[in-house]
Amino acid sequence: MEYKKCGGAILARIDKGEEIIEQVEKLARAEGIRLAGVQALGAVKSFTAGVYDVEKKAFLPHEFEGRFEIVSLTGTIDTMDGKFYCHLHMSAGNEKGEVFGGHLKRAVVSATCEMIVTPLEGEIDRRYDPDTGLNLWRF
Ligand code: ZN
Repeated sequence: MEYKKCGGAILARIDKGEEIIEQVEKLARAEGIRLAGVQALGAVKSFTAGVYDVEKKAFLPHEFEGRFEIVSLTGTIDTMDGKFYCHLHMSAGNEKGEVFGGHLKRAVVSATCEMIVTPLEGEIDRRYDPDTGLNLWRF
């Protein structure tokens, strides 16, 4: 990954073979980012995404392997207990035009991923919510 600051934003190029969430964390730590919006596009060869079953309090993942274009990758960087946390969702399409996606657990870049990280003022920390089983924003 390489990145460049442009005005208030950071533009990052995540390279072939790199895992996207690992690189987001690396960037956030290197630049001291505690709160930001994230958006990206690119191509991936492998990713895990899914949905959360609120009743069972369980994440239901799907593993995807093949050729995929990132249709949309969006989310936030924030903190939980003061430490790095990020929440990303991704949809990606295959050569048939089928699009899959959900809450993103991991994604490995096949060609490139072009990301814009927009740091925001302030901090938002998360707290575990026993009702949903999720780590929710605490204001
Ligand atoms: Zn999610």
